[in-house]
Formats: sequence, C-alpha cells, structure tokens
Amino acid sequence: MQNVNFDVELPKREIETKWSEFEQKYPDWDLKNDEVRKEYISIEKDIDLMINKLFESKLQDLPKEIIDIRKRVLDEIETILLKCRNMISWGDRSESKLYLWLNSRYEINLYSSKLSDLFLIRDNIQEYLKVHEKMDKEILEDYDWKKCSKCEKTFVYQVDYTDIQGDKNTKDIICPYCRTINGSIITDGLINIYRSEELLFI
Ligand SMILES: [Zn+2]
Repeated sequence: MQNVNFDVELPKREIETKWSEFEQKYPDWDLKNDEVRKEYISIEKDIDLMINKLFESKLQDLPKEIIDIRKRVLDEIETILLKCRNMISWGDRSESKLYLWLNSRYEINLYSSKLSDLFLIRDNIQEYLKVHEKMDKEILEDYDWKKCSKCEKTFVYQVDYTDIQGDKNTKDIICPYCRTINGSIITDGLINIYRSEELLFI
C-alpha cells in the first residue's frame, strides 16, 4: 500500500478483503515464490487502478484547461517512454532504474500524480532518453543500422559474403520486429539482420 500518498476515499473494505483472502491463501507471504508474487503484484495493480480511477473522478472538478494540460504532459511522458524503450541500450536494468527517474514511483502511478510532479518527471525522463541516445550512438558506431520506419525500433544489418549464390540481386532490409521493409541493397551476399539483444553475439 506504499502508493497511497494522498487522501482519497478508496473502497477500503474491498481492499481489505483482497488482502485477507491473499493471506488465507498464502499465510507466509512468501514473495520469492512466483505464484505468490504474481498474485501480490496483481492485487497491487488493482489497487493502483482504483486510485487512478478515483483521482480521475476528482480531476473533473478542475478547470478544463488544467485537465487538458495534465493530459498533454502525460501524453508527452508516454511518448518519451516509448522512445526510451525503443533504444538498443534499453534493457531490464534500465526498466528497473526507471522507478527512480519517475521520482520514486511506478509508471501506473503517474496517472494519479500531481501536475507539478508530472512536469518534473517529464524533464527527468527526457534526460534519461538523452543518456540512452548517447549509449546507442556508441553501440552502433561500428555497424550498419536502421531505425524502422514503422515501429521505430533500431536494428543492425550486415551483408554476409561467405556463401555467394548467383548474381547480384536487390535484397530487402526487413525489420526483425514488425517485418516492415526498410529499403533494399543490391548485393550477391546474404543480408543478416540482428535485433538489439543479438548484437553481443555478432
Ligand atoms: Zn519495425
């Protein structure tokens, strides 16, 4: 319940019931057990969604301009986060560090955060994006790469000349994530495509 940091009329009984059912089922609260942890996370998520819903209903009392600004900043944050997650250097570690960049909260809690916090968080993760853009540049320095025109994920391509068969042909460069064609090259070699997580193995 660490996420409840403001005074709203949450359905306390409903929440208590959830936790007491949980306790009956898993009296040891053994969160190292996958099943227990999964259920725990799912209850936390339900509560977060309740908070978001309540917060949303309270917002309706505010002037429309404020509601619009809030929505715009949240949209901006979502866009930056999407860009971050499309970075080649983005991984599980970046995902777990995100909590701190979001000023000690999970993504789901953004929707019940104060507008002043949201402005700060937006600027924070803009910085975080810059850090990853720099890392990506360094990683990709020695490779041929493309950013997919459709899904915007970055991938690396290499022409393999070890097994040349026949004449030079036009060969498509296909995004390994969404299969969109991103240009083509004329070659008698094979085009190998690598996802970001495969770069270490080239
Ligand atoms: Zn793609």
